[in-house]
Amino acid sequence: MSKISPETRARLKTRSLLAHAGRNPEEQFGFVNTPAYRGSTVLYPSAAALRKGHMRFVYGTKGTPTTEALENAWSELSGAAGTVIAPSGLAAITLAIMAAVKAGDHILVTDSAYRPTRNFCEGFLKQMGVETTYFDPYIGSGISALMRANTTAVVVEAPGSQSFEMQDVPAIAAVAHTRNICVIMDNTWATPIFFPPHQRGVDLAIEAGTKYLSGHSDILLGLVSATSEWLPKIRRVADLFAMTPGAEDVFLALRGFRTMELRLREAERQALEMANWLKGRPEVLEVLHPALPGHRGHDIWKRDFLGSSGLFSIILHPAPEAAVDALLDNLELFAMGYSWGGYESLIIPFDCAPYRTATQWKPGGPALRLQIGLEHTDDLKADLERGFAALKKAM
Ligand SMILES: *Cc1c(COP(=O)(O)O)cnc(C)c1O
Repeated sequence: MSKISPETRARLKTRSLLAHAGRNPEEQFGFVNTPAYRGSTVLYPSAAALRKGHMRFVYGTKGTPTTEALENAWSELSGAAGTVIAPSGLAAITLAIMAAVKAGDHILVTDSAYRPTRNFCEGFLKQMGVETTYFDPYIGSGISALMRANTTAVVVEAPGSQSFEMQDVPAIAAVAHTRNICVIMDNTWATPIFFPPHQRGVDLAIEAGTKYLSGHSDILLGLVSATSEWLPKIRRVADLFAMTPGAEDVFLALRGFRTMELRLREAERQALEMANWLKGRPEVLEVLHPALPGHRGHDIWKRDFLGSSGLFSIILHPAPEAAVDALLDNLELFAMGYSWGGYESLIIPFDCAPYRTATQWKPGGPALRLQIGLEHTDDLKADLERGFAALKKAM
């Protein structure tokens, strides 16, 4: 067997890339996978090596063969110049923002952003002298009106991970780049498999590896992939903060990487089947899923995305909270929990109204977010039917 040539590598389809990126059996005594290297101290072979510091690995916080393998794999998948790994998705978001701001700056953040991102802006950036303005996710190139001389970053997230508004990322990026503004995207929902971030104008793309990269709800991890312009800046911040992920989590993420497309395609197929079924249910007022025709952002999804994942929301016809709780408490397969992207189905009630500032969240009924796992859809439908019966009984 010979090594994969650069020509072959450049032509690999995503599935083949997932099987081969970020591994080098030659360096692992022939074993297929890079193991979890646990280590703080790296031993230097000579005084000269220590003084020059020219070693490939120098200290545990600065990278190991395991983190390097995941970084390389993720960069290749994302079409990025490089990647830094953080101990959680939220840590990856904060690192990316810190790479783009200094005291006195102003940033723009989508009103639909993951709520802890907002908390970071209000609870930390404000204190450090960075001001945040929230914008309507459907603003498109109209975002230029919100840009100031000191605006240094735009944070987008498509779709919003509860409310599922889409964003015209290429249009926002085009405007941002005429002013040297960094485009940061939380790409956790689509992953680089369904939305190639850097091809669409994103400078720093975030993935909560906790979700689809892991696929098993058993780790916390975050990744930031970067363009060549932004890589040195994100590396510098990652180095200064030293938010080092655990070796075992990185190893498990690499394992998840190999099957990520298979799991995503199945999640997509299952979620679409469930979304279409829910659309026909009398209890459901609206299904918020960007891949469904009729969704407000469907055209953007169709133009920019290569697929849809397993997370979407539904709005029920008006019902008292106790009836919604009866629905939730009578489900046997759908469990209630916040993280998602694993193999198991989840459901969670949500309300964006209390914290939105640029847009109003008025759904017309109770909102529930669903993560469709890998169970058989017949069983999932039967479970929701059980829940709907309990809802009706409690009305
Ligand atoms: C879960 C999630 C995160 C954060 O990931 P953690 O690893 O839980 O910190 C960020 N963004 C989105 C959209 C998420 O769903």
